[in-house]
Amino acid sequence: MIHTRDKTRRIMVGTVPVGGGAPVAVQSMTNTDTRDPAATLAQIEALAQAGCELVRCAVPDMEAALAFGPITQASPLPVIADVHFDPALAVVALENGAAALRINPGNIGGPSAVARVVDAAQAAGAPIRVGANSGSLPKEVLERCGGPGPAALVEAALGHVRLLEERGFDQIKVSLKSSSVLTTLEACRLWAQRSDYPQHLGVTEAGGLLAGAIKSAVGIGALLLEGIGDTFRVSLTADPVREVEAAWHILRACGLRERGVEIISCPTCGRTEIDLMGLLEKAEPELAKIEAPLTVAIMGCVVNGPGEAKHAQVGLAGGRGQGVIFAHGEVIKKVSEADLLDEFMKEVRRAAQTYSNH
Ligand code: SF4
Repeated sequence: MIHTRDKTRRIMVGTVPVGGGAPVAVQSMTNTDTRDPAATLAQIEALAQAGCELVRCAVPDMEAALAFGPITQASPLPVIADVHFDPALAVVALENGAAALRINPGNIGGPSAVARVVDAAQAAGAPIRVGANSGSLPKEVLERCGGPGPAALVEAALGHVRLLEERGFDQIKVSLKSSSVLTTLEACRLWAQRSDYPQHLGVTEAGGLLAGAIKSAVGIGALLLEGIGDTFRVSLTADPVREVEAAWHILRACGLRERGVEIISCPTCGRTEIDLMGLLEKAEPELAKIEAPLTVAIMGCVVNGPGEAKHAQVGLAGGRGQGVIFAHGEVIKKVSEADLLDEFMKEVRRAAQTYSNH
């Protein structure tokens, strides 16, 4: 049996359900200094506005653990504490409102440290994410499984889960990560066969904006389409807000969730007589502010644009010195090139308003 996301166990990360058929939740991680609550909260706010639903903050020391107090009090999102090596940091982060923990039971300090952290999580009603990363697998697992392949990732994660279960804890989610998309895919599939604990998906060290988003889209997207994965993070060497934007692109492309504007734009060709790339560049940040799930089109020519983008609620198509605004393939307005973007945005905002009035 494969535990697709409708068959995984449900856990709650603060107010956000994960697993058991819940909507796939979007995560990101702050890259501010957690000891600076104002900077961290500003980034959490920006992430929330972009559609982030769960946020993780690193807890490198006690000052950062204590900063969870002001952070969790004002955060619009449940905040997950990412702790390594020191169980006291996990306990203090939980006392200061952490909604969940991300730990590696193998490096938190032995059985008594695991017991201390698990008991604190149990008391706080906070789940724990454990996971395996192909870069840091235990030596005996590597030897037993013949290297850092999918089986080794699953074995390592099962070992971590067992440590928590031995303490009577089952509010667990797991992550199996590799920088190889194929290893990640196989490991997550194997996990879904072996266990019903929900999965956090991610391709680790994916890279910069373009390469990382593509690598994540292939790996995470393939799994989501197979029904595997309950929450995920697109890891990018970029502003975390871009991670959230990429995550929503993946969810929309997989047909799993709707939020915000989907932009259809043509690749331009010899018929293009306006600066379409410049228009798109200016439109994108404006469109990113709209939460209504609209499809809009930015097309290079009046001859083919409206017809090719019939399914768009609102579109623009350019011509020589002027352009048209269209809705569902029908031209509704002719405007000069200088007014094209403003008129288009007016129509998009009107469509968004109509959507929210219903
Ligand atoms: Fe070319 Fe017009 Fe098609 Fe754009 S919409 S690719 S400009 S034919």
